[in-house]
Amino acid sequence: MAGINESKKTDKNHILMPDGSIYKIQRDRFQKDRLKLGGETIMLSISCASCEEPLLVYQKDGLGPLKRCYVDRIAWQTGGEKDLTHDPLKCPTCKETVGTPMIYKKEDRPAVRMDNSKFHKSRYVVRDSATTS
Ligand SMILES: [Zn+2]
Repeated sequence: MAGINESKKTDKNHILMPDGSIYKIQRDRFQKDRLKLGGETIMLSISCASCEEPLLVYQKDGLGPLKRCYVDRIAWQTGGEKDLTHDPLKCPTCKETVGTPMIYKKEDRPAVRMDNSKFHKSRYVVRDSATTS
């Protein structure tokens, strides 16, 4: 590898997160299975329904409502240090519990069971912090 000083390359497969890290879109058998049924892969921004605090950026594959967030698809989380395979997803601001850890048995896959009334979701919009003047 040549010494190219470009650590922040983004394209449609590499998405800039709020903390400046780069998330690589996961393409695996889970994604393939979902997209077979229709829809596409999108990045969602998930925020607390009570106080609008941003909680997660999430890769959602395919159609259907958001019932659970697979841990391997969580691109960014507020606070960052929580292990969501064991800890509930809590809003750091108002302390509301938004999701609880689970294993999605069909795929033996750790996920967060989302409480539908406790979050809002929208398309994730990248705000490039490097472009502030
Ligand atoms: Zn909140």
